[in-house]
Amino acid sequence: MHGTEPITDVDDVKTLVDELDLAATAAPETLAVRLSELRGHPIKILPYPEPIIAESRRTEEPLPYGVWIADPSADYVFYRPETTPSHRRHIILHELGHIWCRHAGEQIEPIKTRNGGPDHASVARAVQRAGGFAEDQEQAAEAFAYLIERRTRPNLSATGDTPAARYRLLED
Ligand SMILES: [Zn+2]
Repeated sequence: MHGTEPITDVDDVKTLVDELDLAATAAPETLAVRLSELRGHPIKILPYPEPIIAESRRTEEPLPYGVWIADPSADYVFYRPETTPSHRRHIILHELGHIWCRHAGEQIEPIKTRNGGPDHASVARAVQRAGGFAEDQEQAAEAFAYLIERRTRPNLSATGDTPAARYRLLED
C-alpha cells in the first residue's frame, strides 16, 4: 500500500497485513522490528514507567491501555503491564495498527530521555495530550490487530474472551 493518506478501510488494512507476509508464530515484538525496518524509524514497546502507573492509581484517572507517542527519535508504544498476556498482545498490535495505517497522532514535544530510557515526566505529559483517534481509525487499528492475531495465531479460539475474538465480526 503506497501513499501517505491514513488508512481506514478494512479491505486496505487486509492488504497491508497480507503484504507483511508474517510467519505463523510471529510475536508482536517481531512485528515491531519488522515495521521499524520497513519504516526506517525505530518502534519501542515499553510498559508505562512505574511513576506514571503510581500517579494514575493515586488520582484514580485510568491510563489508556496503550498509547502511541510519535516522537522524532522513535515511535513509542506504552502499555499497561497489569493485564493478561493475550490482552497485552492485543493492545500492542492495536497501537502498531495505528502506526502502520499512518494515523497521525498529535504533535507533542519530544520525549526527553534519561539513562537511555524515556524520561517519565515527559512521557506523562505526552500521554495526557495524546488524543483519541477518529472512530474509523480505531476500527482500522482493531482490524489490523485482529488480522495479525489470526495470521500469527491460527489456532486461537474464536470463542475465547479476548478482545480479538470480539472483532471477528469485522471479518465474517
Ligand atoms: Zn486506538
